[in-house]
Amino acid sequence: MDQMHTWVAELNKYNYHYYTLDTPLVSDKEYDAIYDKLVALEAETGTVLPDSPTQRVGGELLKGFTPHRHLAPLWSLDKAQNIEQLRSWNVRVHRLVNEYNTRNPENPLPDPCYAVELKYDGLTLNLTYRDGVLVQAATRGNGVTGEGILAQVKTIKSVPLTIPFEDGVIEVQGEGIMNLSVLADYNTRAAEPLKNARNGAAGALRNLNPKTTASRRLNAFFYNIGYADGVEFADHQEMMDFLRNNRFKVNPYLTYYSNFDDVTEQLAEIEESRSGLDYLIDGAVIKITDFRTREALGYTDKFPRWAVAYKFEAEETTTILESVSWNV
Ligand code: NAD
Repeated sequence: MDQMHTWVAELNKYNYHYYTLDTPLVSDKEYDAIYDKLVALEAETGTVLPDSPTQRVGGELLKGFTPHRHLAPLWSLDKAQNIEQLRSWNVRVHRLVNEYNTRNPENPLPDPCYAVELKYDGLTLNLTYRDGVLVQAATRGNGVTGEGILAQVKTIKSVPLTIPFEDGVIEVQGEGIMNLSVLADYNTRAAEPLKNARNGAAGALRNLNPKTTASRRLNAFFYNIGYADGVEFADHQEMMDFLRNNRFKVNPYLTYYSNFDDVTEQLAEIEESRSGLDYLIDGAVIKITDFRTREALGYTDKFPRWAVAYKFEAEETTTILESVSWNV
């Protein structure tokens, strides 16, 4: 039990520095290693401490920002560190679908199909539009309530301030990022160079001065609609079309598969081409496309059962900074 208390305290300290202060103390790999050991110990002992990070999403809110209660919760993602764990996730999905179909033979779910997206490494954004106008933008915060950062998000040129959908309220989720070329350029001139693009984006968006945010020339990709008045989607493809039609920036590396082996091939391709991208990714996200299946699979306290993040080996994120300092 002492070990459990130690890991919980250690991880909570790392979370505070990562989510609240945007200054991580350890690498994601180190964090994930302790986190996985804690998950295993909790499973083995059947004990979960009330403040265990395995039970919560995100971190504490910073003072100075107006809190925003999300219309639908923002989740974390289940993780697979290798193909074997990804296969276990897929087996679980098939088992749950089969169980559902046994209970509902008159209206069975279709065979699972998969969307594969990049997992951008920046700061989660939740944008609220009312009757076609951007009225709020928030961080994920603890998943239920985030920090209102509308003025900061408005500095991102790829975020639409108005959209064609004017029939009520909609919340759209995406990731605020800093392009690597922009980071390199910024660091050639900055008095205090940024450590990496993730901190560059997260620190700028949670800065009380929107002029600082603007100076970082951020970008964003959108991948989900958490809430939409009177709009229903049959599947991921329909939802992504809706995002594109409403002028949201959707990443071009989005592919769909009916065969799980094709998913694993695509993951290998993404990992290979990763270093050529102008932004950081720390993995790929695999999502079941059919929305009725998503509803049937549901959520744990922390993440949806219909999606999983496939994590890549941590990349050397300081390379750009080093090469820049050699050039100056
Ligand atoms: P997560 O890994 O559970 O993933 C959820 C987030 O992924 C979403 O909020 C979203 O912002 C992002 N995302 C990017 N692309 C996406 C896409 N295509 N679809 C859906 N979501 C997408 O996020 P988390 O819970 O914030 O992160 C946990 C991870 O953060 C840990 O595994 C660890 O690696 C890292 N972490 C590191 C430290 C540290 O000190 N180094 C501390 C805490 C967490």
